[in-house]
Amino acid sequence: MITETKFGSKPIYLDNHATTPVDPRVVDVMMPYFGEKFGNPHSSSHYYGWEAAEAVELAREQIADLIGAKPNEIFFTSGATESNNTAIKGVARFYKSRRKHLITCVTEHMCVLDSAFQLEREGFDVTYLHVGVDGLIDLDELKKAITDQTILVSIMTVQNEIGVIQPISEIGAVCRENRVFLHTDAAQAVGKITVNVDDMKVDLLSLTAHKIYGPMGIGALYVRKTPRVRLEPMFNGGGQENGLRSGTLPPPLCVGLGHALKIAKVEMAAEALRLKNQRDRMWKNLNRELSGLHLNGTIKHRVPGNLCICIEDVDAESLMAALPGLALSSGSACTSASEESSHVLKALGLSNEMAEASLRIGLGRFNTDEELDLATNSLIEAVVKVRKGRKIIAAAE
Ligand SMILES: *Cc1c(COP(=O)(O)O)cnc(C)c1O
Repeated sequence: MITETKFGSKPIYLDNHATTPVDPRVVDVMMPYFGEKFGNPHSSSHYYGWEAAEAVELAREQIADLIGAKPNEIFFTSGATESNNTAIKGVARFYKSRRKHLITCVTEHMCVLDSAFQLEREGFDVTYLHVGVDGLIDLDELKKAITDQTILVSIMTVQNEIGVIQPISEIGAVCRENRVFLHTDAAQAVGKITVNVDDMKVDLLSLTAHKIYGPMGIGALYVRKTPRVRLEPMFNGGGQENGLRSGTLPPPLCVGLGHALKIAKVEMAAEALRLKNQRDRMWKNLNRELSGLHLNGTIKHRVPGNLCICIEDVDAESLMAALPGLALSSGSACTSASEESSHVLKALGLSNEMAEASLRIGLGRFNTDEELDLATNSLIEAVVKVRKGRKIIAAAE
């Protein structure tokens, strides 16, 4: 449903964890590669191929530059889902004759959990670490879980529903000490907070363009060269991407990802500060007018644009129905197309009812102060209305 707001006929977009609008500057650099610069980057015998290959290699450098890697450690994929599948299954299957145990966490994205479930079906053992009410794993629990069979630990940098930041460099230190590889899903972290593969001591890292104002359908996997991590490819074919990922690369998308990260490098610090101020102001204003609000997960270790809140005596679905002018996610809709409440909110210890009373507000680059004040006021009005409706129903029963 679409309502007329003073910003036009579309709802205010507050779902920047699901996807971000493509930055118009990114669209501009992509366009020629849909048109006159149409070459196949793997055609090595003529100008059209060289032109496309040069653009793809520049993008690879831009990605490497933002995360402190070398260009030959960056492999293009279709997004974070593919990067995560490749990293987790690829490492597990390559080393399976030597070690068959992996460690991950209950609040990971479904594509990580599902890859782990698949490996269990193939005979691997997987430990799923729990999280505290803050959303963070316990390093002692990690240390205890590591055995001489452990090959890989996969822990996300930033959680996509609650926005909490795991202590990756501490996790990395534990993994190094025990000679275990560390993979991190950094889809919600890259371009939002400082990400450096050496400081974080990670061996594999997944990222995706559409969470950082780039196009959908392109991502990358970082794979450390020294010490070298080996993995079995997911696809067989022409041997592109050094044999790790066969298939023709899409230059317009590669260029878009590279440029999105180039912009992020320049603007990240100022943008993070602005988003944090906007987020904190929204949270303060909501609490001034409403009681019974709870933040899901720690505020201390959280990306600036995230506000995942539980609103007592409200169910998020009715609330969203009362808010056609806002585009946001409920606690149940964050993860997948399924109707179940979020596995992430439940892992924090929330009851079904509390999970279903939760909303995820995701602020982004293009949200204005004015828009956010309008959104805050609409949300307050809708909560008052839904709570009043509930009281009337309760009294009648
Ligand atoms: C969006 C997201 C993914 C999936 O990324 P795609 O590029 O859409 O496949 C994986 N992990 C996290 C944390 C995400 O936020």
